[in-house]
Amino acid sequence: MRYLVLLLLLLHAPHACGAATKAEELALQAAQHELDTSPRDGNIPSYHLSPEALHKGQLLQQSWVRTHFLGEVWQIAQLLLLLQLGLISRTQAAVTRRFKSRWVQGYAFLLLFLLATTLLTLPLDVYAQWMQRSYGLSVQSWASWAGDLLKGFTLTWAFGGLIVMLLFLCILKLPRTWWFAFWLAAVPITVAGIFVTPYVIDPLFNTFEPLARSQPKLVQRLEQVAQRGHMNIPPERMFLMRASDKVTTLNAYVTGFGASKRVVVWDTSLARGTSDEVLFIFGHESGHYVLHHIVRGILISMLGLFVLLCFSARLLAWAVGRFGSSWGIRSQNDWGALAVLLLAFSCISPLVEPVSSSMTRIQEHAADVYGQEAIHGIVADPATTARDAFQVLGETSFDVPNPSQVLEFWTYSHPSIGRRAAFAVHYQPWAEGMQPKYLK
Ligand SMILES: [Zn+2]
Repeated sequence: MRYLVLLLLLLHAPHACGAATKAEELALQAAQHELDTSPRDGNIPSYHLSPEALHKGQLLQQSWVRTHFLGEVWQIAQLLLLLQLGLISRTQAAVTRRFKSRWVQGYAFLLLFLLATTLLTLPLDVYAQWMQRSYGLSVQSWASWAGDLLKGFTLTWAFGGLIVMLLFLCILKLPRTWWFAFWLAAVPITVAGIFVTPYVIDPLFNTFEPLARSQPKLVQRLEQVAQRGHMNIPPERMFLMRASDKVTTLNAYVTGFGASKRVVVWDTSLARGTSDEVLFIFGHESGHYVLHHIVRGILISMLGLFVLLCFSARLLAWAVGRFGSSWGIRSQNDWGALAVLLLAFSCISPLVEPVSSSMTRIQEHAADVYGQEAIHGIVADPATTARDAFQVLGETSFDVPNPSQVLEFWTYSHPSIGRRAAFAVHYQPWAEGMQPKYLK
């Protein structure tokens, strides 16, 4: 429990978030008022869609909600089905009978297990991609989509196999406290994973090139924003991703860790947004960089994993004792215990979802504030630029302006686009008696 307390202290250290300034509080109140006085799912003064786009957005949202929650339920149901039908125990018996080596057994079990769960989830995945294509959000061919699925499957099997071997080593050696040992081992693995992802994983799915190669003028302006925040983001750390091969939506993000940390801007953002709007998006991304969101993200994930493993270990022990004989899983050392553990994960994760999405929303809001402050003095009117950027971002994704606040609270990783636009319009920290939050 000492670790839990330490992590909580780190997460809530005063420097991590900072108290809201008066300007921020006023803007938040004004944005909330705007949302409260506008129709639910309808347009708001700071962000609007055409009637046709609004209708599309509402349909897309309904479909997304269905697939999201159905996916969570199906995840639990499919694992129960596999266990109850004896497919897990038969797979386990087959691999232990056929192979001597524990490594081969582990990898063979995982391969068959992943094949079954991937096939069972495929209809939902296909439906989600079909929706994206029919609404023009994705332009990726089915062949390319299937290729990505195959790559993802292979990576999960290859790296997942190592994790599974480590997991069962912990369970074998420490039958009662394995979850804590596994959690300790997961910390350096997660950090290493985040470090290598931009080098090893991302290039397998998308094409990247230095931003300066095609956008030298833009890079100069981006450097102005970087200098204003006293950041050290050299042009070599700015990349352009050819997202237009697959999607029509806009994005930019920060990824990596230490020497691999970088800012990535999608080419779709450059095609649809003005140079000022791209500066704001970059300012927002720099905010994640400067406000140490990656490190905080790792700490939050570790805290989440700690809680998840702690409860899942208890659920696993209980489920094996209670249903083990009917599922054909005699102990937590059996390969089939992996399915039971994932079942426990799948039951707990949906309950943790509002906590994790609320945490990321706080970070995203902080990055919005930072982004707006970072372009002050570089663009004519930061509030209008930020609002216009949200308008373009939202329009291209058919984001509804004023979604249900319960849905936003439970599932949204970012504040709704309408809330972000309304905040941007009302955030005026350079007015008399006010002060900026981050860049004084
Ligand atoms: Zn962000």
